[in-house]
Amino acid sequence: MTITSINPATNETIKSFDPMTKDDAMDAIDAAHTAFQAWRKTSFDQRKACLQKFASLLRTDADEYARMITLDMGKRISESQYEIEYCANISEFYANGAEEFLADQPMNIDGADAYLHHQPLGVLMGVMPWNFPFYQVVRFAVPNIMAGNTIMVKHASNVPQCALAIEELFHDCGLADGVYTNLFIPSEFVGAIVSDSRVQGVSLTGSEPAGAAVAAIAGRNLKRSVLELGGNDPFIVLEDADLDHAIEQAVKGRTVNAGQSCVASKRFIVVKDVADEFLNGFKKLMSALKLGDPMDDDTTLSPLSSEDAAVNVQKQVQSAIDAGATVILGGDRPDCDGAYFNPTILTDVTKDSPTFDQEIFGPVATVYVVEDEAEAIKLANDSSYGLGGSVYTADIERGRRVAEQIETGMMFVNQPTKSQSELPFGGIKNSGYGRELSHLGILEFINKKLIHLG
Ligand code: NDP
Repeated sequence: MTITSINPATNETIKSFDPMTKDDAMDAIDAAHTAFQAWRKTSFDQRKACLQKFASLLRTDADEYARMITLDMGKRISESQYEIEYCANISEFYANGAEEFLADQPMNIDGADAYLHHQPLGVLMGVMPWNFPFYQVVRFAVPNIMAGNTIMVKHASNVPQCALAIEELFHDCGLADGVYTNLFIPSEFVGAIVSDSRVQGVSLTGSEPAGAAVAAIAGRNLKRSVLELGGNDPFIVLEDADLDHAIEQAVKGRTVNAGQSCVASKRFIVVKDVADEFLNGFKKLMSALKLGDPMDDDTTLSPLSSEDAAVNVQKQVQSAIDAGATVILGGDRPDCDGAYFNPTILTDVTKDSPTFDQEIFGPVATVYVVEDEAEAIKLANDSSYGLGGSVYTADIERGRRVAEQIETGMMFVNQPTKSQSELPFGGIKNSGYGRELSHLGILEFINKKLIHLG
């Protein structure tokens, strides 16, 4: 396997790293297990001090980390800067909130005193993707460190600079050795780690096949798992929507992180009365996007994360075209070096098209025209995914009613799905299970122990 940082804007190799051996990985479990025995006994104040420092270190060298993200996986530098600030925010959210989220919960049952006492489980394994290389790790690691668990992470093999920087940050903020460990391992080692009796659970963010493979191993070994997999988020535009706003949000929702977000808006379902106007406006704004160097502040659409990713998106678009899709915009790659893909809009993607139920990780929007609200809801739910989604209407009550009928874990009215420290994040169906962020995110790998006082 190769653990290599390749700049997707130029396809030039920056740096390669040697993978660990299986023995190294087993030693790391040992260290994480030993660290857990001490870390579980630390006070919330001790943990809080470390994670506040973690946030402050992130902010102090934000430009350096942002540059690292952009070099490893190509996102626009302003998006990388935002990611670092957001990670600092998540750290402070849990540093300040964990004690309250994990406080004993008194219960009075039949006159007897009882309470729920929250205890950490132990060593946890994280398998993380490249699309938000700092955020995905922080979202998993920070609440669990605050809860008293210890963490090992196998990061995606194309973002090694970020993986190492995160480990260093966790070290520099005062965590003892073994509380957070980066594992430069091939994905084939993950099974042996999750099966090890010292490891108590696994959290994976990534594709469906990776999630299913890891969850199967966790299941066989009776370990807890949290899965945050792909999405095919519907973006429903009803006839009473503020169209200028909907169009602007559609571009933002589809092209965040060059379209490589699990909660990017992907299927644009528009009621026929406003379909032409929506499509014209959407095409105008999508075609105005400026592809270019992600380090340049003027760039509005960056390359994809790797050459393989761009080739894969091209294949998906071509298979949609072969199955009868109409290309309204783009559909191909620009003639330049780097993992770029042109902003693309497709219509006439029918249910028998191979891409109908696939997640496209790139700036490719599929637009569907429907008769009315009822047909919009039916089409939105015709997906094996169920992560996020949004609905656009001038009537908030109508938005609420539609949102409640969509089979996803998150719905937003008049804005695309977003991630925020305070908001539970996660999906249903093939998008996975469990929740991250908010007060719920810290409870996934916790023993909610009943103490009954007789
Ligand atoms: P993967 O799911 O393959 O990669 C995500 C992480 O899982 C990486 O760390 C990867 O390691 C690891 N991994 C992959 N297979 C296994 C396995 N069998 N056992 C253990 N770990 C595994 O995603 P890709 O990068 O290949 O992207 C493919 C598609 O997945 C995207 O186009 C997108 O649709 C979806 N995806 C969704 C994400 C989300 O945020 N929900 C994030 C990333 C991808 P390694 O890098 O070494 O292969």
